[in-house]
Amino acid sequence: MTTRTLNLDDTLYRYLLDVSLRDHPVLAAMRDANRSHPRASMQIAAEQGQFMQLLVRLLGARNTIEIGTFTGYSALAVALALPEDGRVVACDISREYTDVARTWWDKAGMSHKIDLRIAPALETLDALIAEGRADSFDFAFIDADKTGYAAYYERCLVLLRQGGLIAVDNVLWGGKVAQAPADEDTAALQAFNLLLRDDARIDLSMLPLGDGLTLARKR
Ligand code: CA
Repeated sequence: MTTRTLNLDDTLYRYLLDVSLRDHPVLAAMRDANRSHPRASMQIAAEQGQFMQLLVRLLGARNTIEIGTFTGYSALAVALALPEDGRVVACDISREYTDVARTWWDKAGMSHKIDLRIAPALETLDALIAEGRADSFDFAFIDADKTGYAAYYERCLVLLRQGGLIAVDNVLWGGKVAQAPADEDTAALQAFNLLLRDDARIDLSMLPLGDGLTLARKR
């Protein structure tokens, strides 16, 4: 018996998926299609998508934000878990990737729940704040440029209601965060992780799920 998190080998990971993954056919098709994508690692893992769906349902979420949409997997996972009047404000700067995302959202019948904003995410977030949407979002997912994380997090804290949840992806960064920073992204993630550790505005948990997922609940 160990008190620390298990290191999953391929066999145990396969078992975890076999006994717990409840797949949606469009999400499964997206993962298949994405396997050949040169930036495939930007898509979250199947069990992480399912975990985020559980969080969205636990929160009773209606209004959600995503920063970093890529080809649309996580936005679709969240949209599928939202009630019919729920919405994802999806922020990305790439029309090329999000054009692919739209075709998947259409296939799954979820396009009406996803409000795609093609612009630097800070512009979209600041516009939402200026529109009076502070304290109105239930859930936010940050999964974009790592040097932007701290600024996205601050905006999301403003936009979230009390008790709302921010999920942040890639916080373990393939293990590089535990080593001397060799690049700008690693250094940004290290500073970000420390910022959250000492932030009294949130309740905090860092999970070794996928590439590391931090959960921050607004107090
Ligand atoms: Ca990611």
